[in-house]
Amino acid sequence: MPPSPLRTAVLRLLACCWLAFAWLGSAAAADEERQVLILYSLGSDSVSTWQKLVHKGLYDELGRSTLSSTPAIFEERFDANLVGESQALEGMAPYLRTKYAAVKFDAIVTENSIAASFLAAHPELFPGVPRHYVNHGREGWRPTDGTGYEVRSDFARAIGVIPVIAPGVRRIAVVGDQSPRCQEWIAAIRSVAQGFNKRLSFEYWDNQTFDDLRRAAQSLDRSTAVFLLTTSRDSTGAQISSGELARTLAAISPAPVFTHSESLVQPGVVGGYVVSGESVGRMIAHILLGEPASQEHVQGYLFDYSAAQRFHLRNLPADAVVRNRPQDVWALYRWQIISAIALIVLEGVLITSLYIALRDRRRTNAALADERNNLEDRVLQRTLELLMANQKLEQLATTDPLTGIANRRKMTDQVSHELERARRFKHPLSLLMIDIDHFKRINDTFGHEVGDKAIVAVARLLTESMRSTDLAARFGGEEFVLLMSETNIEVAMRAAERLRSAVSMIHVNAEDGAPVALTISVGVASADPTGIQDSPSSLLVRADKALYRAKKDGRNLVVAGQ
Ligand code: GH3
Ligand code: MG
Ligand code: MG
Repeated sequence: MPPSPLRTAVLRLLACCWLAFAWLGSAAAADEERQVLILYSLGSDSVSTWQKLVHKGLYDELGRSTLSSTPAIFEERFDANLVGESQALEGMAPYLRTKYAAVKFDAIVTENSIAASFLAAHPELFPGVPRHYVNHGREGWRPTDGTGYEVRSDFARAIGVIPVIAPGVRRIAVVGDQSPRCQEWIAAIRSVAQGFNKRLSFEYWDNQTFDDLRRAAQSLDRSTAVFLLTTSRDSTGAQISSGELARTLAAISPAPVFTHSESLVQPGVVGGYVVSGESVGRMIAHILLGEPASQEHVQGYLFDYSAAQRFHLRNLPADAVVRNRPQDVWALYRWQIISAIALIVLEGVLITSLYIALRDRRRTNAALADERNNLEDRVLQRTLELLMANQKLEQLATTDPLTGIANRRKMTDQVSHELERARRFKHPLSLLMIDIDHFKRINDTFGHEVGDKAIVAVARLLTESMRSTDLAARFGGEEFVLLMSETNIEVAMRAAERLRSAVSMIHVNAEDGAPVALTISVGVASADPTGIQDSPSSLLVRADKALYRAKKDGRNLVVAGQ
């Protein structure tokens, strides 16, 4: 039976996985075996800025490679500062032999010419291990038992850049020492110097005490430039770190200090065309990774911004790196500035919308207040109208339309009110019941309108002759009542008599102008203030009875009621 396609695919997949694991395993095993030794240079810079730069470049570059290709690194330093140069060199070979007796290295790399010279002088160390000689500082030397990588300072450029960027410089003071490495550099500078014979003069301060060096540097002016080489000893053999010497010279010298090494671009030092420690470190990384290690780009123009400013250096090469340049505010705080502006704009929008909302609300409130005021005004007006209408209604309800005086209803209320008052304050109260005599006859003879005129005439006379505290009312057709508060029967009788007499003296005119005489009969009744038993109706009835008697007794009479 042929294998199913699914089974074939699974088998193939398993085979691929096995191969991948096998490859990874072998690669890991190989990596575990790869071990390298780096020998850092002897001398004062074993703990120097230079070695820190090399270290940084080395590990930065290794960090960029894949982990599987990174070897295990062992590092050794010749610390001549502690034990002296010759002792350090002497002691290093047996030390390395003993320490690494059990280690099988895949490569040994030197970092500098001194370490390179040491390793070349000890061919018996680590036999068979490939040797890589990074040789910075030893001109023209070639190793016989390994690969050489010469890092040669380019003094043509390092010196050449000085008159270009500092045109006022006429003299260059080269600071160095008597070490072979330094003397090789000085020889290289001397050959370069010939090209500048006309424009520049050179002095070599390579055999002085540090005190002399300081004094000489102090007395310089700006027509001179100091060119500082990596230097560790003075003429007395006293040691100083190159970095410290660089800082000291830069601090005391009125002239600019140039150099050829990145590690010497210390505060105050201008810089120049320098060998880059980090680039050397990157070169060593490539050697360790088994990659082609190029000696190009290990040098470049490097300047310190404030030192360049101090000496008014112009025309710096376009490819120069300028350190410590104050970054402009925009580059430094771009996002903070953008965020702040966005925030301000947002706040502005927010405040504007709040302001608009507030303004709209104020407008609405003002409109509402206006509306409320209008409403209040309208309500007030309506209330007043209602009051007036009520008053009018009340007036209409209590007023006789023909004569304009009170009507029967008003009089009835007033009689009961005044009776109550008279009772309370023990006042007398009198009431006159008045009726026009033979009124039917006036109506019949002269017409209804003349009758009306007679009613109005009597009503007017009544109101004109009464006191302000009295009340006159039309009680019926041609019948009137006069209510006199606080008035006894005698006073009321006199008033009735005056009224009767006054009416008898007036007349109204008939349609043809003929005078129509009028008389009235009056019945008078008084409520007794001492023991008033009268009700409104009994008082009215008594007055009415008196009136009836006046009619009966011949009319045009006043009769007092019993
Ligand atoms: P007496 O002297 O007995 O009072 O005789 P009199 O004619 O006045 O008799 P009476 O009081 O009975 O008559 C009243 C008349 O008054 C009857 C009615 O037609 C008339 N009258 C009632 N009201 C009015 C009115 O408003 N205008 C007019 N013109 N006449 C009215
Ligand atoms: Mg009458
Ligand atoms: Mg009558």
